[in-house]
Order: sequence, then C-alpha cells, then structure tokens
Amino acid sequence: MEDGRADRPSGKPREKCGVVGVSLAERDAALPTYYALYALQHRGQESAGIVTHDGFQQHQHVEMGLVGDAFDQDDVDALRGSTAIGHVRYPTAGSVDKDCAQPFSVSFKGGALGLSHNGNLVNADEVRDDLAGAGHAFTSDGDTEVIAHDLARNLLESDLVRSVKHTMSRIHGSYALTIMHDDTVLGVRDPQGNRPLIIGELDDGYVLASESSAIDTLDGEIVRDVRPGELVVLHEDGSGFDSYQLVEAENTAHCFFEYVYFARPDSVIDEELVYEVRRDLGRELWAESGTETDVVMPVPDSGRAFASGYAEAASEDGAATEFAEGLMKNRYVGRTFIMPTQEARERAVRLKLNPIKSTVEGKTVTLIDDSIVRGTTSRQLVQLLKDVGAEEVHVRIGAPAIVAPCYMGIDMATREELIAGDQSVDGIAEEIGADSLSYLSTDAVSEAIGKSKDDLCLGCVTGEYPYDIDGEATDRDVERPTIEPPADD
Ligand code: SF4
Repeated sequence: MEDGRADRPSGKPREKCGVVGVSLAERDAALPTYYALYALQHRGQESAGIVTHDGFQQHQHVEMGLVGDAFDQDDVDALRGSTAIGHVRYPTAGSVDKDCAQPFSVSFKGGALGLSHNGNLVNADEVRDDLAGAGHAFTSDGDTEVIAHDLARNLLESDLVRSVKHTMSRIHGSYALTIMHDDTVLGVRDPQGNRPLIIGELDDGYVLASESSAIDTLDGEIVRDVRPGELVVLHEDGSGFDSYQLVEAENTAHCFFEYVYFARPDSVIDEELVYEVRRDLGRELWAESGTETDVVMPVPDSGRAFASGYAEAASEDGAATEFAEGLMKNRYVGRTFIMPTQEARERAVRLKLNPIKSTVEGKTVTLIDDSIVRGTTSRQLVQLLKDVGAEEVHVRIGAPAIVAPCYMGIDMATREELIAGDQSVDGIAEEIGADSLSYLSTDAVSEAIGKSKDDLCLGCVTGEYPYDIDGEATDRDVERPTIEPPADD
C-alpha cells in the first residue's frame, strides 16, 4: 500500500536489485543485457550497469539512474564482447552513491572479476573484517564487494568451481548472483534460494536473469530456475551450461513477497505464473474473509490481480459483488516527485489516485491491495472513497500483516514505522478508518504459492527468519559460518 513518504513516494517495500548474465556465440552481449535490464527495471531504479568481456579485457559502464538514462547508444556500442553481466539496483546495504552501483568489478592477479548481486548477506561485516585483516582494501561499504574479494582470494588458489564453493561456505544470507570471471559467466543462488534466478535459452546463447520476463523480452525460452545452492556456468561460446550443486539445504526459503509484490505478474517463478498466484491469493482472501459488498475494487496497480481472483471467487459463491476499477491512477506522478511538507504529502494521494464517483457513490465497497506498510495511504484512500459517497469501505489485503523488517535485501521499514508492528487488526482498521480489515493467513499464502511454509521465507510477517540474524528469532535450524579471525603475524 502506498504511503507518500517524501523520500519514497510509493511507500511500498522496495526490491533491492535485478541481475542478468548473458553468454552468446558470436555477437556482442551488451545490447541483449541492456534489454534484459529494461525488463527488470521494476527491481531497482537507482543505478544500472553492464560489464562485458571481449576475450582480452573487461569493459564496463555503470551509472546512476534508470536504464534508459544510464546508457545511450554509444555506451552500449562501446561494451564489446560476447559475454556480459548486468545489474539494476536500489540500495539497502551500502550507501546511495555510485561507489555501490553494480556490477562491481575488479582486476586482480587471477584475472578480471565482475559481480551482480540481488539479496543481502547477514554476516558481511565478519567476512569483511576477516578479509581486511588479510590485507584486502575495500572501496565501498556494500556486501557485494565482500563477496568479490573473497572469491578473488579463492581464485588465486583454486579453480572456479572450488572457489565459488569456498565463498559460499563463508557467506550467510540471501544472494542471487551473476558473476563474470574473465569471459565466463556464472549464476549462483544461495542454499535457501531466497531470491529468484532463472536460466533462459536464446537462439545463439544462454541468459541468466532475476525474472523470466527478461528472457521473454529477448525472445528466449525458459530452461529452468537455478536451484538453491547451485552454480551454473555458461559456456563461453554460448553452446550450453554446466551445473554444479555445491550446497544442499534441507529446506528452501523463497521470499513469498516475490509472488505477492516484487516480481512482475508476467514472470514465471518455479513454474508458476506470478499473475495466477496473485489471483489465487485473491481467491483465498475471499475464502478466508470475504464480505459481500456492492463493489470490489483494486488499489491500482498492485491490487488488481488479487481483486480479480477475489471477485471471481465471490461470484462463484453467488455473491452479488461487481468487480470495478474505481480508482484511476495518474501514471505521470513519478518516483522523483518531491513532497516537502506534510500537506503536500497528503495531497500526493489525490495526485496519484482519483476515484470514479459514479462507481462508488452510495455503494458498499471492498478495497483490495497486497500490503499495508505504514498505513498512511490506506487511511487516505478510505477517506477518499467515503468523501465521494461510499457507504462502507472494507479493506482486504492479499498477504499477512507486515510486522517486522527484512534483512535479506528488501527496503521494508523499521518495526516502529510498520502500522502492524505493535497493534491488532481491529486497531489498524480503526486507524485507517475502514469498516473492516482482514489480512490473508500464512497458511493461505502457502496454499496459493504451492509450497510448504517450511520452504518459504515469511520473516517480515512472522518475525522469525530463515537465516541466523543477530538479535532476531529464526524459524529453523540454520548454521551461520564461523569466520576465523585473521592469524596473528
Ligand atoms: S523477510 Fe519478507 S521481504 Fe524479506 S525475504 Fe523474507 S519474505 Fe521476503
């Protein structure tokens, strides 16, 4: 649900990053990587970058801003070579400047290394201290550089596969990586598979991407998801890939929010179309807390698939509920919209969303969205609908209440900022002025996604995480690697 905070107009939880890796037979890989990054733009709008390798040397272009602003034709043309990795980023670990923009690249005795990371390590400080003690100098405070240095150190002593395995044994947390070592492109997913990463086949090569929508954009075919704990090495000549299952974990910890909000609805994760999962979540919502009203309407665009599933299930049950688009979105209120005062922030919702009076006036309304973070926008939307004559406004949310922050790379909010952090559902309903409010249960989420709760990360809605995080509870037996302190000289 949107909140209108000055530095984050959408107020939504923000995905940290999107990653791409491309290996082609002969043509340059920069242009397809650029298109793939466009398809992943929703995963990060702060910076965009591509690193290529032409068989002799690495080329890179990394800029702040959207993909379309960060690159012009000359920039793409200058990136020679048939292998590439790319990245779009929203910062969560590390500062908001170009030093943390990715791909991170480094030249060392063992060759040239480039890294694109989606996720967040929870033991980056320990690994960084260890490497700093061994003489590594860091140029950023981000966790991706930690992975790059660790891998570079291993590559001086070992082959590629063993080096990646060794790094995986030292880092703990969430990571989907595309890596380029000289002209070899690799993909790695953490043993719990927290962030998505998928393999696609093109006419003349292979692609790795955070989401399948990037593969569609390149007219490719989905091969399969990279498995949790797996290393995939694309052949330099684009002819195929090798797979190494480096780490096995008993359970996965896929971020359920990828299905609820982050991923594009047209993406396929683990063979499930995200749009259909969202419709199923809407159907579950009707089954758990459906209430018959004159109209069911989504908060655009995030609530649309949920509302469609909810309305369909309602009609199958014989409810006289009509699905209607009752809120219209102004698409030109961009992310850079500055709202310096509280009054301006309050007005922002009217600039972004306008109700269609005739759809709402004199009606009972169910308003559907995927989440409520701070509650500011929910309150304003309920008020807006009542101002134009809604008799009742019932709010239904297609996910459980967010009660805790995310440590795995999602910019959520602090516990204090979260409206559900310290109050009951009835209390929240009162605060946002709704006649009733219901969230979806974690059981229903598991049912709609088709995975056991033991194989999902539900940390932000249960407060129990699938990783060993300082000061937080865990929902499973997880072992954080012990990083040996540097030896005394
Ligand atoms: S805590 Fe929430 S947002 Fe973060 S990875 Fe887990 S499910 Fe996803």
